[in-house]
Amino acid sequence: MVASIQEAVGRARDIRHDIHAHPELAFQERRTSEIVSRRLQELDFQVHTGLARTGVVGLLPGKNRGPSIGLRADMDALPIEERPTPGKEKPYISTHRGTMHACGHDGHTSMLLGAAEILARRWKENPFSGDVVLIFQPAEENEGGGKEMVQQGLFQKFPVKQIFALHNWPGMPAGSIGLCDGPIMAAYDRFDLTVLGEGCHAAMPQFGDDVILVASEMIQSLQKLTSRNHPFEPSVLSITRFHAGDAYNVLPATAELAGTLRTFDPSHRERLIREIERTVHGLAGANGVQASIEWKEGYPATINEKEATALARRTALQLVGPQGLVDPVQPSTGSEDFGYMLQSVPGCYAWIGNGPGEGGCLLHNPAYDFNDEILETGIRYWVQLVENFFAEQEGNP
Ligand SMILES: [Zn+2]
Ligand SMILES: [Zn+2]
Repeated sequence: MVASIQEAVGRARDIRHDIHAHPELAFQERRTSEIVSRRLQELDFQVHTGLARTGVVGLLPGKNRGPSIGLRADMDALPIEERPTPGKEKPYISTHRGTMHACGHDGHTSMLLGAAEILARRWKENPFSGDVVLIFQPAEENEGGGKEMVQQGLFQKFPVKQIFALHNWPGMPAGSIGLCDGPIMAAYDRFDLTVLGEGCHAAMPQFGDDVILVASEMIQSLQKLTSRNHPFEPSVLSITRFHAGDAYNVLPATAELAGTLRTFDPSHRERLIREIERTVHGLAGANGVQASIEWKEGYPATINEKEATALARRTALQLVGPQGLVDPVQPSTGSEDFGYMLQSVPGCYAWIGNGPGEGGCLLHNPAYDFNDEILETGIRYWVQLVENFFAEQEGNP
């Protein structure tokens, strides 16, 4: 087992470097998807392609019709030009201009393929009582590849009792594992807000509406919703765009704002959306102008289920001990489309520490790189999680 883990880690590292050098954006992961399906076929997995266009599912059938487990990795890269820290250039730097793996999904895909190798060997000796389902999803970044897989029947085709995901996390010690019960990543929504009034001469504001002033009042009042109305419910509201006017002596007729809302609790999300609309329309009415707000629904919160998280916690403790387990982590206000899968199937999304990184380099940074040192822990986590899952299903914890 030890020797075979080392071999699997070596192969996962090679695959990681290859994928890193050939990053592909959302729904364009054809090369990556091909590497994944070919590798799974070599390992004698049943391979299914085509869900969410470039998604791949690998299956090791159970010897009985016992409960099954799903493990998920994401394959897409980001539209960022890779710029490694000077002196830290790597031979596997992105060869696709303007695209790079700045979120470590190259590492996620490779870790799960490394685990696939060990699991396939174990399965040939003695199949598990239920299916092992490995899900390689496209388009996690912004485009909802996970949602598309679910909508296209992922869990009808491959029913699983629990589902798990692992994301590398910079700033956490390398190879440590972090998790928490309940929400671990936020829901995100975006909105466009237009304030429409009567433009006029800037020297004579009495003859029109000052939509810049009204929009500014809206920004101030919207911040009060998160800071004053809900002291016990974490949320973030950021106004990220404010466009109005193009002259020194004209008060414009329109102001255009945009922003994003991050929340953890679904009912709080609904409540805040209603309050934002009430505030915007109330202020528009008070100032005699028109306002419209248009929402673009983003990802739901990623909410870990208690029993699945307990299994992940037990597995992490076995693997890295209490000193290597960060529990509970402080949830992130970032978002994840694994949240969609968790709306269908209970599961747990955990973090694996990527180490401090170059100068505290964070995800989505042009110098970011997944840490090869953590491949082994990631592979062992997946394998152990599957072993523990089936041991518990068979009443043999
Ligand atoms: Zn990302
Ligand atoms: Zn990511």
